[in-house]
Amino acid sequence: MTGFPNLKAIFSLGAGVDGLLQDRTLPDVPLCRMVDPSLTKTMSDFVLMAVLHRFREVDRYARDQHAGRWQFAIPRDTADCAVGIMGLGELGLDAARTLRSRGFDVRAWARSPRAFSDIRVFQDAEGLEPFLSELEILVCMLPLTSATRGILDKRVFEKLPKGAYLINVARGGHLVDDDLLASLDAGHLGGALLDVFETEPPDLDHRFWRHPRISMTPHVASYCLPEIAARGVVANYERLIRGEPLEHVVDRARGY
Ligand code: NDP
Repeated sequence: MTGFPNLKAIFSLGAGVDGLLQDRTLPDVPLCRMVDPSLTKTMSDFVLMAVLHRFREVDRYARDQHAGRWQFAIPRDTADCAVGIMGLGELGLDAARTLRSRGFDVRAWARSPRAFSDIRVFQDAEGLEPFLSELEILVCMLPLTSATRGILDKRVFEKLPKGAYLINVARGGHLVDDDLLASLDAGHLGGALLDVFETEPPDLDHRFWRHPRISMTPHVASYCLPEIAARGVVANYERLIRGEPLEHVVDRARGY
């Protein structure tokens, strides 16, 4: 990104800046990422939908329908379903609160210590195993950094209880595709919903397309409504003009 000698700041239209940070020519000016109510709300809607889809066994009822089976089962209480959110940032925290509002037993994993009365937060490497050990549904909402690339691998899957379900709405680079396929095929993980992929779209011969226990969506979990998102960009631009500190500046060393 050269040829902009008067550049004062960069405003990313995405919440994740992993792609931008790979650009070695990125000028040394503040890089602000997208934090926006419409992005947050649509993500929480998607995560709630995905969790309820699994929890209320929508896929099983679809199979029953096609087999001509009428098989009623009383739904369980959401309080008996432990859902773990990896990443408790702008998006993860709102999704966690949304799931709590439906009564789910929500746990979260982050880098720094956090305390909430109704969400158990586990921290860093030592907190990962206890975080994973009782989850029925794991939701990845981490930024993609050198520390989190490939984090959804066989070591994580082995620590999840048998039958656990994975939802990845963060980045395809978090997931080791072959480890997911191996765990599903071995009958350990129960299924996965993937919204993001290392290559988008994945090659047509990728096994994800046809795997019976993988659902795919084309990176649609969350989106900005331009008329709402633009207000945030303009407000930050006005701060820049007034010489005030900018909001949502990325810590480049940390990677998010
Ligand atoms: P934030 O930067 O606000 O939050 C990041 C969270 O991840 C923080 O809680 C942070 O911990 C935690 N974290 C970061 N690194 C680690 C680590 N090594 N170990 C444990 N926890 C870690 O990000 P957002 O919530 O705004 O966005 C998250 C991601 O969602 C984006 O980076 C992007 O990849 C993805 N996304 C996907 C979209 C889609 O449509 N599928 C759309 C928008 C975003 P701490 O609080 O301690 O700093």
